[in-house]
Amino acid sequence: MSSWLLPDYIFATYREVTPEFLTSIGIKALLIDIDNTLAPYEQPLPDEHIKAWFAALRQSGIQATFISNNGRERVEIFNEEIGLPFYCNSAKPFAKNLKRAMRDMGTDRTNTAMLGDQLLTDAAAGKHIGLKTIIVPPINDKNNAFFRTKRALEVGHIKKYVKLHGEDARAVCSFWLEKKYKKKNRE
Ligand SMILES: [Mg+2]
Repeated sequence: MSSWLLPDYIFATYREVTPEFLTSIGIKALLIDIDNTLAPYEQPLPDEHIKAWFAALRQSGIQATFISNNGRERVEIFNEEIGLPFYCNSAKPFAKNLKRAMRDMGTDRTNTAMLGDQLLTDAAAGKHIGLKTIIVPPINDKNNAFFRTKRALEVGHIKKYVKLHGEDARAVCSFWLEKKYKKKNRE
């Protein structure tokens, strides 16, 4: 099984990815997915939690760039108040825009991490160029055949993560592992 899809860290929500944690693992810059990582597709603007989280990153001197596969309008509107550098239409798992963003920020693979909700795009893009990858469960997953197939492909890697990180990791991985989700898969 390819380790490209195996994230380095899984958290229950982006809010647990604190400046203290990032600093403790040597991360000075984050490449961040938007949809279902910070907010569901249907939420056009960042809420107070998101803005506070970015303020905390900024205060700690951690740089950030949005790397979205979504289009310019979605990213520009979401980013209006936050004001980060961004790349839209990024075509993750291709890593071209991740590399561009690191060049812009003056960081490299040793001190930059990718944060997202999908193994097949976010984790794969980051791992492909040797970055640390941090995954959170999707906030409001779409329940159509395409997304169900994607999630089913992720389950094996999530199980591997739990095996590596111990039973404590099981709780944050419940989105992928719980029976309800598997049942949905079979519907
Ligand atoms: Mg996403």
